[in-house]
Parts: sequence; C-alpha cells; structure tokens
Amino acid sequence: MKKYVAEPYRIKVIEPIKETTKEERIELLKIAGYNPFSLKSEDVYIDLLSDSGTGAMSQEQWSQIMLGDEAYAGSRSFYKLESVVKQITGYEYFIPAHQGRGAEHICLKPLVVHEGMYFISNTHFDTTRAHVELAGARALDCVISECYDLGLDYPFKGNVDLVKLEKLIQEKGAKNIAGIIMTITNNSAGGQPVSYENILKASQIAKKHQIKFIIDGARYAENAYFIKQREPGFENHSIREIAYQTFQLADIFLMSAKKDGLVNIGGIVAIKDDKSLYRKCQARVVPYEGFPTYGGMTGRDMEAMAQGLLEGLDERYLRHRTDQIRYLGEMLKEAGIPIQYPVGGHAVFVDCGSIAPHIPYDQFPALSVANALYIEGGVRGVEVGSLLLGRDPDTKRNLQSPVEFLRLTIPRRLYTYEHLKAVGEALIRVFQNREQLKGYKFVYESPILRHFTSTYKPIDR
Ligand SMILES: *Cc1c(COP(=O)(O)O)cnc(C)c1O
Repeated sequence: MKKYVAEPYRIKVIEPIKETTKEERIELLKIAGYNPFSLKSEDVYIDLLSDSGTGAMSQEQWSQIMLGDEAYAGSRSFYKLESVVKQITGYEYFIPAHQGRGAEHICLKPLVVHEGMYFISNTHFDTTRAHVELAGARALDCVISECYDLGLDYPFKGNVDLVKLEKLIQEKGAKNIAGIIMTITNNSAGGQPVSYENILKASQIAKKHQIKFIIDGARYAENAYFIKQREPGFENHSIREIAYQTFQLADIFLMSAKKDGLVNIGGIVAIKDDKSLYRKCQARVVPYEGFPTYGGMTGRDMEAMAQGLLEGLDERYLRHRTDQIRYLGEMLKEAGIPIQYPVGGHAVFVDCGSIAPHIPYDQFPALSVANALYIEGGVRGVEVGSLLLGRDPDTKRNLQSPVEFLRLTIPRRLYTYEHLKAVGEALIRVFQNREQLKGYKFVYESPILRHFTSTYKPIDR
C-alpha cells in the first residue's frame, strides 16, 4: 500500500510560477515592510499563505460557469445553489454572501440583542472575532487543553472544553450569551477536527440554556472526513451523511465557501428553521451584500459553488488532500521541527515559540520564521500567534497567544507532493540556522485585523 495517495485528477491547464533569487527576495521583503501579506504573489514561488479561495477549480466547475444567470433578482443560479445547500444541510433558509466574513456580518449582529453579550467558541477565527466585536459583543475561546500539548497524539484537538463552556455560561449568565460557535475544523487552533460527540454535547448545552448554536463550517467536509477516519461508529458512514448529521445539531451554518466550497469567492448563511432570524438577516444582506438572490456573488460564481460544494464532499478528493498535509507534516517532524501533531485538515502548524525561544511573544517569533522561509525558499506562510491575536479591546495590551504558530496552508488541488517537498527542504534549512532569527517591531500598526496591513522592521540584537 502506498503511504500517500496520488492525485485523483490529472492536469489540464497550467499556470507558470516565477522563481526569484535570494538577494531579490531580501529586497522584496524589505519593500513589503516585512509583512508577507504585502508581497506580490508573482514574487512568491510556493504560496501557502492561505487555503482561502486559492484552490483550483474542476472542468465541471468551469463548464458550469457558462450557465451563470446574471439576473438581478431570482437568478436560476441562485436556485441551483440554494437547492444544493438545502440538500447538504437539511436547513430551510439560505442567504448567499460574498465570503465568510460577509456571512458573519449579516448573521452575528442580529444575535446581539443587548449590551454586555458574549459569544463562546472552541476558537473564534480572526474575522469571526472581529465581527463579534464590531457587533458590540465579546469573544471567548475555550478549546480543550490537549490542543496546546502539541506533540500529544489526540484525535480531536479542535474540541470545545465542555466543562469550561458550562462554567462560562454560569459565570456570564445564559441570557448574556449571544451564541455558541463551533468552528469546524478549528482553524486558529491548528485546523484540528472536532468530534461528532463533542459537537453533540456542546449542542445539548446550548439547547439546555436556550442559546443559539452556530457552526462556522468553512471546513465542514474535512471535519466530516476526520470523523469518519478517527471516531468509532462512523467508519461506514459517507462524508455526506456525517456532514448532514452534524448540521442537524445546529441552528445556524455560516461558511466561507472559499475553503471546502472549492471556489475562489463565496459565502453561506443557512438557518435551520428560525424564520424571524432569517428575516433579520435578509434585511441586512440587502444594504451590505446585495439582493438576497445574489448576496454579493455573480450568477457564474453561484454555479461554480453549487458544483464545488458537491466535489468538496468527495471522499477520494478528501483523502488526497489530507495526505498532502500529512506528507509535509511528517517530513518536518522527521527533521526534528516541532509541529502540532497529528496535523489537521488544511495546514501544517509549526511551533515557532520552540524554534525561536529567544524571541519574545510581542516580537512575533512566527513572523520571524515566516520571513526567513520566504528569503530561503520563496515560500510564503503566515503567522498565527500573538501578532494575529492582537490587543485586548479594553486594555489595549498585546495579548499573548498560547502558541506561536507558522501556518503552512495547503491550497486545494493546486500543488503537487514535489512542491511540498521544496517547502519542507527550505524550512529545514531555516531551522538549522534558527539562532540567527530576529524579532520584529511595528513601523505601522493597523487598528483592526492588524496582521493584514501592518509594517515592521527587524530588531537587531
Ligand atoms: C476563512 C474563515 C472565515 C472567514 O471567511 P472569509 O471567506 O475569509 O471571509 C471564517 N471562519 C473560518 C473558520 C474561516 O476559516
């Protein structure tokens, strides 16, 4: 048996990628203010910044694009997409949005009905946290402690800590909890899966306290694949069945379709049966996203998404995708590089706090490794640590993340194992010279979601 399965597709269209020299990259990074987000993508050899909207579409998706109905209202493409979303979720109401944060903007605010409210999540994704705060609420995370025991072999490190969840509800008062958000897979906690049992138990807690239960399901198909692989009792279920059962536990499904929707743009708000909430969201989609039958998407985008959602649930595709991530993870682990293990669904998370213990959290060790990796191999990864976490909204102090991760995010159907090998080799070289890594300080600090647009400079030691 092969250790890693080969691609379940062949290549029909190619996109050439440029290679730069190390000297050029040193200069390019300086021009970018040492922020990998500010690099031009053509100056990147292998781009592992994000798996969001960066994947390759299939021949079926490209052919559906010609069927797009661009009518302002009542587009045929909307009804096709609506039908797919309803089939997958079993929910009654669907509103399209231009991407995940658009869906959050539409749906989170109506849940915040008075001052001093909280959302509790296994871990809020960064845009989710931002929309919680913009809606006037506060975001509380309570992932299980196993998550941050990085080397511990535990199958569902994305789980919510159920005891802590109950305690937080008691402490803050159930009437002050605007919603419980289950992020599947748990992106900011390492793309780690959440077990069906954990989602079930959390949903029972929500029900008991009459709190809305929300699935932030950008990677719900990858999560269902892990449930099938790792959770006893699901071996013989299809991915589609597992996903469907998961949705039955929640009231609301928010999705960035740029992940498991296998499209370059798109988002979903789906509501199980709460018509009053649906009406509130519908009233918000019009001014912020667009008429409710397009919600910021074109007809052709909705066609590609209707097809992409179905392809994203294909088990052969999911096996190859997760194998690619496992391949890179195992290569790094064998070289002694500390990573979160076992790897999750969309990325390898490298523990930069251990690689560069000489860099304090507020000088951003993972940014330092990300920049060194770009210089070494033209590879772009992203910091997921204290830089991303930002400042306490009340005290304005830099928050310290429990782990300083460099995320190497694998786009869907885009790169081959050989590309990932080049990534691994470059990171191994950075690791071998790790005592030379430098911390960073701000030149400009952006006030919200600061990691996207801030600029930095290295601190000379
Ligand atoms: C990507 C993502 C979002 C935000 O979606 P965008 O499409 O980037 O706006 C929200 N939640 C999770 C878990 C995500 O991964």
